[in-house]
Amino acid sequence: MSELAPPHIQTLLPYEPGKPEEELERELGVTNPAKLASNENPVGPSPKAMEAIKDALVKMNRYPDGGGYYLREALARKHDVDMKNIILGSGANEIIETIIRTFLTPQDEAIMAWPAFSIFMLVLQAHNVKTIRVPLKDFTHDLKSMGEAVTDSTKMIFIANPNNPTGTSVGEKEALEMLGAIPENVMVVMDEAYYEFVTRPDFPRSIDYVMEGKNIFVLRTFSKIYGLAGLRVGYGIAKEELITDLNRVRAPFNVNCLAQAGALACLEDDDHVRRCLEVNNEGREYLYKGLSDLGLEYVPTDTNFILVKVENSREMFNKLLPLGVIVRPLDGYELPDYIRLGIGVQWENDKFLEAIKQLI
Ligand SMILES: *Cc1c(COP(=O)(O)O)cnc(C)c1O
Repeated sequence: MSELAPPHIQTLLPYEPGKPEEELERELGVTNPAKLASNENPVGPSPKAMEAIKDALVKMNRYPDGGGYYLREALARKHDVDMKNIILGSGANEIIETIIRTFLTPQDEAIMAWPAFSIFMLVLQAHNVKTIRVPLKDFTHDLKSMGEAVTDSTKMIFIANPNNPTGTSVGEKEALEMLGAIPENVMVVMDEAYYEFVTRPDFPRSIDYVMEGKNIFVLRTFSKIYGLAGLRVGYGIAKEELITDLNRVRAPFNVNCLAQAGALACLEDDDHVRRCLEVNNEGREYLYKGLSDLGLEYVPTDTNFILVKVENSREMFNKLLPLGVIVRPLDGYELPDYIRLGIGVQWENDKFLEAIKQLI
């Protein structure tokens, strides 16, 4: 590390991604592991998306459509909003980054829950924005306390709904109460990366709040249910004025041509989405039962991953690796006795249950 970066960068702890399969093979000689560490779609990408990407390859000498016209048009239709309400990003992560760069300065404060999506904290710190972290209650965002944490300096509130790494969600009642209690000029980011997995009927209708004129950003992604995490596409929905601000800051050509083609095609692949949901629902129930049978506690989930209680997160992570199972240890999230377990396909779930059975 050089001494040249300012203190808020020198003290920044970089994001720890899930351990890549290739690394496990290099280090421990383990091949074909169950990779349950990064909340990825275990089914794979939509065949229609793969086909569309192949077709788009011949145009790679050209810059992509900088405005992402066709993808935004399709998303606008899907969500019954105007194209002007939509911004595309190289993953929802890039939109989080663009929002922070556009609206926040080191004089502002932001509020987030903890433990919650660590990217919020990382990007806020990288921009030297003071971040207030409000503890979860029963593994769930405590929106009342988050609303009460608002001060004159608060400019933005970040909510991951459902939350990563706990898998819990908040309902419409809590969301509306919080939105009603905070000043109108406090912006709210509703990161709904796992939206499509949610089953509760009272999930907040956040896009409606956008259309009612609230200062809300709704974030969605193609990385989870659509199985395109490697392609890097996400989108944000907000009122037109806010999207206009973001577009001043957004990097030109931030979503490449293959990503635009793949995302557009999988929006039409309802069969694939249905199948992925089926696999997730079956896997979730299977793991619930398997965990209970082993006497392991878990937090019921609204996502494609499960928070599982173990004795020592890091130790369990390390011991699972040679058995060919990659999970996410959560010691860095101040959850030292929990691992985050992605819901896999059948052989992966079995491999995990077999492995953890040996270890407890
Ligand atoms: C996975 C995830 C995202 C999606 O990120 P991409 O950049 O779109 O891959 C966003 N928010 C949360 C809370 C997530 O867990």
